[in-house]
Amino acid sequence: MNVDVIVAGGGPGGAAAAAQLAQAGVAVLVLDKAHFPRQKACGGCLSPKVLSLGLDFGGVVEDVIEEAVFAAPGEAAIRYRSHTPLAYMVRRERFDQFLLSRAEEMGAHVRYGHRVLQAREISGGVEVVSDRGTFRAPVLIGGDGALGATVRSFRRPPSRIALAMDARLVAADGAHAAWRGKVLIDFGGVPFGYAWIFPTACDLSTGVLGAKKKVRRLPGYLDRFLDRQGVQRGSTKVTGWPIPYPAWSLRPAISPRVLLVGDAAGFVDPLTGEGIYYALRSGLIAAQAIAEGGSGVADRYQQLIWDAFQQDLRGAAILAALIHRAPEVSFRALRRHPRAIEAFAAVLVGRLSYAAFLRKVVRGVFAAGWHSLVQVGRWRDEDRVVGTQRSGLRTEGEH
Ligand SMILES: Cc1cc2nc3c(=O)[nH]c(=O)nc-3n(C[C@H](O)[C@H](O)[C@H](O)COP(=O)(O)OP(=O)(O)OC[C@H]3O[C@@H](n4cnc5c(N)ncnc54)[C@H](O)[C@@H]3O)c2cc1C
Repeated sequence: MNVDVIVAGGGPGGAAAAAQLAQAGVAVLVLDKAHFPRQKACGGCLSPKVLSLGLDFGGVVEDVIEEAVFAAPGEAAIRYRSHTPLAYMVRRERFDQFLLSRAEEMGAHVRYGHRVLQAREISGGVEVVSDRGTFRAPVLIGGDGALGATVRSFRRPPSRIALAMDARLVAADGAHAAWRGKVLIDFGGVPFGYAWIFPTACDLSTGVLGAKKKVRRLPGYLDRFLDRQGVQRGSTKVTGWPIPYPAWSLRPAISPRVLLVGDAAGFVDPLTGEGIYYALRSGLIAAQAIAEGGSGVADRYQQLIWDAFQQDLRGAAILAALIHRAPEVSFRALRRHPRAIEAFAAVLVGRLSYAAFLRKVVRGVFAAGWHSLVQVGRWRDEDRVVGTQRSGLRTEGEH
């Protein structure tokens, strides 16, 4: 089969690239080792930033989140309500199938059950060897993840890795209803990470995320978190997967013929672990750089990515380093300054950049005086706080 572009991996990054290329009249072949719908360890929480990408994914949304509860062990939780959606909940098996089917509808060729084993540059293009055949094309997009065959084939140094685990819990009817429209993010219980409860239509996604070097036994953190929340895990299967963090020294284009997208390029928010938006956006940008053609595809891709979000993810990395190193102080600072929560929510939904948020924080610290931070460090639960409640969330009857 003669194609212009091969895409290794049909997750959000690969599927977005394939759809865009096919729409532009480029012949594209997607190879994915899985048969869809396939399971994927993921919280399934989509930021409203995804809306800006022009994807009509309303048909696979299971819940719309308008309330976020931030918690930390032994602290009063912070509850934030918004009049506009803070997030959209999807199940990855449905969402990813929707994306890849859409690419097929637009004319992309998709080969399911084709595991890419190796890829290499050859004269005038790239050769991709799968367990079901060998394919050649002028360009390869690697969308097969941080530890995928593309990254390994080109000996790209690995990104820093966090570990995340995800368990789907079927909550009792009443308990599930209490979680509708609401997410819980718990800082401080997992080193350099957090734990979550997100609702879908009929169950709860719960999980933990932490820096690989810092966490010893991730399931233990999940069990302790669920105990604190009074949620039973029982014998529910837990799935885990690495999450890459951006490595600033690494370019997302290995060469003008090999572009990496999504997790393969390390495009994940280092504070939140959000990767779906960045996978989709980088896939679209890779397709744009390729469709524009010319000799500078790699430089063009790099530049567009930098302008779109890579620069801002550096701000996320700075904030992540602060919050994850001192979760209690950060948590109390947020609680003490409700406008900081507003601003943080604006970052999460994409209305404010991380850089702008950090500038606000620095200005706030200077305006309030350095001692205010020290005060925050000494903050006591007895202090009166607007919009917070004791932690240990009830899962019933609360809204
Ligand atoms: C537990 C957990 C929870 C998460 N929760 C969230 C969340 O709530 N919100 C969010 O935005 N992000 C979340 N993420 C991150 C998010 O899942 C990823 O960033 C996102 O899936 C990246 O998309 P991708 O297309 O780059 O890769 P993937 O979604 O991993 O897709 C890669 C595709 O490549 C295929 N593949 C792999 N190897 C090969 C091979 N050798 N040959 C052929 N095909 C191959 C796979 O079958 C897969 O279809 C979470 C991650 C984890 C681990």
